[in-house]
Amino acid sequence: MADFSNIVILTGAGVSAESGVATFRGPGGLWEGQRVEDVCTPQALDRQPELVHRFYDERRAKLASVQPNAAHHALARLDAEWPGDLLLVTQNVDDLHERAGSTRLVHMHGELKSALCAACGIRTAWADSLPPETECPHCGTLALRPDIVFFGEMPYQMGRIEQALSRADLFVSIGTSGAVYPAAGFVQTARYHGAKTLELNLDPSEGSLWFGESRMGPAGTLVPAWVAEMLGR
Ligand code: NAD
Ligand code: ZN
Repeated sequence: MADFSNIVILTGAGVSAESGVATFRGPGGLWEGQRVEDVCTPQALDRQPELVHRFYDERRAKLASVQPNAAHHALARLDAEWPGDLLLVTQNVDDLHERAGSTRLVHMHGELKSALCAACGIRTAWADSLPPETECPHCGTLALRPDIVFFGEMPYQMGRIEQALSRADLFVSIGTSGAVYPAAGFVQTARYHGAKTLELNLDPSEGSLWFGESRMGPAGTLVPAWVAEMLGR
């Protein structure tokens, strides 16, 4: 067993790439001629609600045809078997970590399978398409929106994440480009508090220089190997 106790793991779109979920910045980073960054904003939701809802409807529908890959399964095994503290923070809005079995999990950028009422703030599990002007089952207002943290909005559960980072002995970043803050700054926070840092990514990310160790390759190969090391077999 490695001599770490508290682990924080950050995942990004790269961990789901081998499941067939498109990353945002790679090939396919444009959607209907728009930059993805222009679809995922509160301003876009105000001005073009049909476009924003259609974008997330397509992504939600896609989840039915994809499965967790070896990286999700390995992280779920680590969650089940790791005796110390562990927090898996994902920027992904897909549900592949929970379908693989991870439970110590935070969706800091929201979830495709959830709708948020802009009027009462209550979340509702959502599996189908979500047309604009859908009635909230709790308060009846026509104000349901995708439960996604848009560019310019505050990510979820930052207090819990910051606390875990401040206590981490090891911080591991998997399949993220390091382009979106505040997640891109977690490595610096963890280092500041004395954690070792490891990056697993296909290519060097924008934040690579902050990591004590970087391993380059597909998550489906690198993550199971790293988890086996951590569990000592
Ligand atoms: P990103 O698209 O910016 O970067 C993906 C990173 O993964 C790149 O560095 C790339 O080199 C790497 N990568 C690609 N294939 C890989 C593989 N097989 N193994 C390991 N690494 C691989 O994604 P991001 O950093 O997560 O940031 C984008 C934002 O977009 C996030 O905020 C997230 O909420 C959102 N997003 C979510 C999903 C999803 O839910 N699956 C998909 C796309 C984007
Ligand atoms: Zn409501």
